Amino acid sequence: MPMFVDTTPPGQCIFCKLVAGDIPAARVYEDDLTLAFMDLGQVNPGHVLVATKRHAATLFDITPEEAAAAMQTAQKVAQAVQAVFDPPGLTLLHANGKEGDQTVFHFHMHVVPRHGNDGIALSWPRKEPGAEVLNGYAERLRAALA
Ligand SMILES: [Zn+2]
Repeated sequence: MPMFVDTTPPGQCIFCKLVAGDIPAARVYEDDLTLAFMDLGQVNPGHVLVATKRHAATLFDITPEEAAAAMQTAQKVAQAVQAVFDPPGLTLLHANGKEGDQTVFHFHMHVVPRHGNDGIALSWPRKEPGAEVLNGYAERLRAALA
């Protein structure tokens, strides 16, 4: 994950300044709700960030409309990345909260073209708690969603 951490207050964060045009960015696409631009820490050619235009720190702070717009923009950008750079793989990544490896606390997603042995590591230990535990988790989530 990137080492840069933006500690500026909400509304004055680096992405708000970027959306406002106060700092330069290599813009790729924008609509009413989202802005897509090149990541300064570009890991592979075509690595693009999709951010909400409105300041909202996390997935829990954006509206359903912003969530839909962010995914639609990510898909458009991914299609363009595929057409231009033709990577053999692509990872769509959203980090939420400090423990989720979020470094800029303004909602964004990464569209990351992927290549074999590109140095990116996304791994976690398989814990396999068993069907009974999984069914218990699912039951709790179904209740929360009802
Ligand atoms: Zn912001």
